[in-house]
Amino acid sequence: MSHASTQSELATALLSWHTRYGRHDLPWQQSRTPYRVWLAEIMLQQTQVGTVIPYYLRFTSELPKLVDLAAASEDKVLVLWSGLGYYRRARQLHQTAKLCIEQHAGQLPKDPDALLDLPGIGRSTAGAILAQAWNLPYPILDGNVKRVLTRYHGIAGWPGRRKVERKLWNLAETHVPERQAATYTQAIMDLGATVCRRNHPRCCDCPLRITCYAHAQQRTSEFPEVRPPRQRPTRQATLLVLRDRQGRILLERRLQTGVWQGLWSLPQDTTIGPLRNLAQAHAGLEGCRQQNLPIIHHSFSHYHWHATPWLIDRVTPFSGVHESDQCNWWTPQQAMDLALPAPIRKFLNQLEENLNWPNT
Ligand code: SF4
Repeated sequence: MSHASTQSELATALLSWHTRYGRHDLPWQQSRTPYRVWLAEIMLQQTQVGTVIPYYLRFTSELPKLVDLAAASEDKVLVLWSGLGYYRRARQLHQTAKLCIEQHAGQLPKDPDALLDLPGIGRSTAGAILAQAWNLPYPILDGNVKRVLTRYHGIAGWPGRRKVERKLWNLAETHVPERQAATYTQAIMDLGATVCRRNHPRCCDCPLRITCYAHAQQRTSEFPEVRPPRQRPTRQATLLVLRDRQGRILLERRLQTGVWQGLWSLPQDTTIGPLRNLAQAHAGLEGCRQQNLPIIHHSFSHYHWHATPWLIDRVTPFSGVHESDQCNWWTPQQAMDLALPAPIRKFLNQLEENLNWPNT
């Protein structure tokens, strides 16, 4: 962490705006201690200010000091937290209070690296504690600040990407003023929450509107960029199309777990070996013909599925192998009355067209 030596235009504008328009009556702004600032920061992660306030007041009246939190039972801490969700935050808060008693003479450490070593304290929370509790010039980069900075500077790319985040941290550092870090931190958070809102930012009321890139370009809705859709992996499979001389096909019922559970489908595997064994267990393969048919493409919510149908045609089903409600021979017409997955139904419908035997 480092800090700039001159005050940026953004910081100057925000500081004077905050005097008049910023929030000054939040409970953690009163009797500011490192403990109270830290507690507010942890509660505010993933939770709105309005929801946090009653919890914060109850928590600080029951456990007003770090030493009280450290001495409390975990049950007590969880009861006070109950309703705020993300209980891991409460457990880490408790754990950190105890570590402060053991390792830091009962106080939150003023050293950034020591703060970052404590459970539940990341770079932004450490920055908020250093700036708000001790007025030290360290930046924060929560969701509100990311939104203000990406718009103000016109930063392209999703802020969750490491490269974009690094750029934002650098900008956040250059804006923190040497003095008044506490007020500045509150000001940029307030601006993000009340003016530079996610939807319909109030640019006309914004102290940064003269120099803001997104406002000048009328592109506020383009920043920050949204998370790109997740890349779905591709899974390959082979489907066994075991067909007898009457055109009947062996289908089996899918297991009760995984995709297509309980539906009828072609036997499938990731390798050919088990499918070959299955074919040999159900039919005589003398004189059969084999062919790979065009790949079936299908997308599930978590992956793309590419399946190669492996046709073994003109086989002779073993009479000793009993048909059952788990595995059976069906003509494509009969199969249409079964519960089939859509891509398999489509495939069976088109099977005749896909057959391409040389004339012999
Ligand atoms: S001018 Fe608009 S987009 Fe730019 S920082 Fe202010 S509110 Fe956000």
